[in-house]
Amino acid sequence: MAVTNTLTDTPHRIRRFLADHDPPTPCLVIDVDTVLDRYRALTGAFPGARVLYAVKANPEPAVVDALVAAGTGFDVASPGEIDLCLDRGAAPAALSYGNPIKKPSAIALAAARGVREFVCDAESDVANVAEHAPGAAVSVRLLTDSPDSVTPFGQKFGCPPERAADLLVRAADLGLDPLGLAFHVGSQQLDASAWEVAIAAAGRVAAAAAERGVPVRRLNVGGGFAVPYTGPAPDLAEYAARIDAALRAHFTDPPELALEPGRAVVAEAGLIRAEVVLVTQRSPADPRRWVYLDIGRYNGLAETENEAITYPVEPVDVDGDGDGPVVLAGPTCDGDDVLYQRTPYRLPLALRAGHRLDLRNTGAYTASYSSVAFNGIEPLRTYCLLGGRLISAGAGTPADR
Ligand SMILES: *Cc1c(COP(=O)(O)O)cnc(C)c1O
Repeated sequence: MAVTNTLTDTPHRIRRFLADHDPPTPCLVIDVDTVLDRYRALTGAFPGARVLYAVKANPEPAVVDALVAAGTGFDVASPGEIDLCLDRGAAPAALSYGNPIKKPSAIALAAARGVREFVCDAESDVANVAEHAPGAAVSVRLLTDSPDSVTPFGQKFGCPPERAADLLVRAADLGLDPLGLAFHVGSQQLDASAWEVAIAAAGRVAAAAAERGVPVRRLNVGGGFAVPYTGPAPDLAEYAARIDAALRAHFTDPPELALEPGRAVVAEAGLIRAEVVLVTQRSPADPRRWVYLDIGRYNGLAETENEAITYPVEPVDVDGDGDGPVVLAGPTCDGDDVLYQRTPYRLPLALRAGHRLDLRNTGAYTASYSSVAFNGIEPLRTYCLLGGRLISAGAGTPADR
């Protein structure tokens, strides 16, 4: 079957599947052709860069399979993600253990499986890698003072730049390969200047490290590439041009580039279909209707916390004119399970229980965040399409797989 890979076709293909199969809601449908299309768009925008897909964004086996076949590398964060990628046929050399927070036992397991690249941001972690993965390649993750992204990391990760050269030298002293530097400017980073700030800092660290006999050979500029939700996002070409210019400005000898995109690979490939459970007005003083869905914060929409990520919400089967303001909420008995009450959403006045809604661009950080049984609700089911055909009807829980 011929498949066209423009993003505008993605929802059509998914909705055709939903119309034909009518699976129970809520469910996530992933169009794997779109995943591959986005991966190719990334490699096209960043020719020569090593692309490591951040598995946590969507660890669905059919997604990993497609990316293994496409030759992608993987940013893994735990033994579970390592084994997932290896089970799906990835080579150990394609894996980078990018999480600076790891137990010695996890490092040992990674090393036993053949993983040779690690990212560290603290001396004790470098020492643990030296002990449990002797001779492995280490990149030092920098804390950056880039502008905040939509979902910022705060101070959680990264070595202060003024200590990073010490850490690279320390890695070399411990018999590790001091490969380079890494950073992540925060997920859904709409401001491309964030990379410029971080690359400038990395350039200063690289100069200091080179003076001490440790040349930086790789710069991992992380993920963070944004996708459109209710608002637009910069396109990949803009990020690429700004990153390329910053590399030229701040490195005399530009290192090999690595990227760790998660959201930008899978978000636009996914659509969640949900059902309206209840519509009611809560306060005579507030004209907004509360619309409760069969999906919420705990079964796939974790990124609505603080209303950070605002998914496009589109009615599927409502007739009638006119719309009005709504609050959107999830189905559980938890007071925090409210999706959007500050972000202005509008839905048809004719919306009733039983109508369906589509949440667009929901392929990233949805199913992987779904709880196993909160309020007895099963994890978000994922269906994967390739060439418009169903290739996996993902059971909700890892144990079902
Ligand atoms: C989550 C994560 C990524 C992916 O980030 P996106 O914003 O989804 O592109 C990349 N690298 C690391 C270390 C991460 O933790």
